[in-house]
Amino acid sequence: MLKATYICDICGAKRKEANHWFSARLGYARGTPSSVTFQRWEDSDEHDSHLCGQECVHKMLDKWMSEPTSSPAQSS
Ligand SMILES: [Zn+2]
Repeated sequence: MLKATYICDICGAKRKEANHWFSARLGYARGTPSSVTFQRWEDSDEHDSHLCGQECVHKMLDKWMSEPTSSPAQSS
């Protein structure tokens, strides 16, 4: 059975056996991504995002942090 070919969401690199990849999952609150979780790659995991290494993890984190929240939290 062929394994799926994974492509890095940030730079477009293809995953090879030797790569040290990470996966990321976003947590949503009120429709906006409120949290992001990075994990070491496991083929069996579900992945929201595929990241080919440390550099792309940083890029995704930067992107997530710079995204504006569409509706500012109002607790009153
Ligand atoms: Zn990459």
